[in-house]
Amino acid sequence: MSEALATIEKTIIIGSGPAGWTAAIYAARANLKPLVLAGGGPDRDHMPGGQLMWTSEVENYPGFVHGITGQKLMDELQQQAERVGARMKLHTVNKVDFSVSPFRLWHDSPLYGEEEVVTQAHTVIIATGASANYLGLPSERQFENAGVSACAVCDGNLPRFRDRPVVVVGGGDSAAEEATYLTKFASQVYLVHRRDCLRASKVMAKRALENPKITPVWNTAVQEVLGTEKEGVTGVRVRNLKNERSDVLEASGMFAAIGHTPTTKFLGGQVQLNEKGYIVLKDGFRSLTSVPGVFAAGDCADSTYRQAITAAGMGCKAALDAERWLVEQGID
Ligand code: NAP
Repeated sequence: MSEALATIEKTIIIGSGPAGWTAAIYAARANLKPLVLAGGGPDRDHMPGGQLMWTSEVENYPGFVHGITGQKLMDELQQQAERVGARMKLHTVNKVDFSVSPFRLWHDSPLYGEEEVVTQAHTVIIATGASANYLGLPSERQFENAGVSACAVCDGNLPRFRDRPVVVVGGGDSAAEEATYLTKFASQVYLVHRRDCLRASKVMAKRALENPKITPVWNTAVQEVLGTEKEGVTGVRVRNLKNERSDVLEASGMFAAIGHTPTTKFLGGQVQLNEKGYIVLKDGFRSLTSVPGVFAAGDCADSTYRQAITAAGMGCKAALDAERWLVEQGID
């Protein structure tokens, strides 16, 4: 490991989703010459671009009349940030030390054979996002972007789900909300849950269960996603956990709504997190974390909205907060 400690960056942005790139655009335009550590691996959790790289069509990001693919949106944001002066490394941050000033970050890129280095920074913006939890079935991966999704708001409006049955898995607020949302498009929504009641808040559970298009399938686990290469998902094989009976639900899609995991483990407990691992913002309206000089934006600090546009807005706030903090510290 080489200790490249001579350079002190004004602002390092960890993560390259909508929050990270928007922070980079604002920080670069404020002349902070931000360095974006964009992620250094091909797997879901470390892929540059984040969750949108797995989303086919994005139709709800303002400014794109005909929608845009997730990959293209991230590419445009990256180009915009780089055009105004942001720098980028395809590196994953493994460890941080926020107890020293300037802060220290250890990062590398096994994918590109680049060894771990240490970089110092006066401010850090954490924009590492979160990943949707999936069931972990091989068939689920096989039909990703072909009927398997973890975001009804992102994908529910796609033609393949219109006027056809779909399955939602889970029993929390996300599952209730996604199932209700999908009734706008699908002919029927099977809400498959491993228990005999929802854990969702009363109001959301009631709304879902009173919807005539939603059929709860209780005490049931998904065994396999069924489909063909040509058609994508055609059904879901489920197993009743009480009587062990297997059944097939015909469906053009399956939405996993079994929670998200924020990407915050690498912080090693140095920034205050809530009980679910999300970064706690000191003032919910701003981007300040428990460590002065460290800011957070996007899904790693937001378990409620989790939209590309809200993440982008938070990225903007984080860059403005970092800029102000540097001025207050007399660092230029
Ligand atoms: P959650 O509350 O953790 O619920 C996850 C659900 O998925 C649970 O019902 C759980 O089953 C089920 N589950 C987990 N792993 C599973 C597996 N491997 N196989 C099958 N089922 C599995 O997650 P969430 O619904 O995403 O909500 C997260 C937070 O965001 C909550 O605080 C929620 O209130 C909030 N939220 C709020 C809104 C809103 O207010 N509009 C909308 C969405 C989310 P068990 O019940 O058996 O544990």
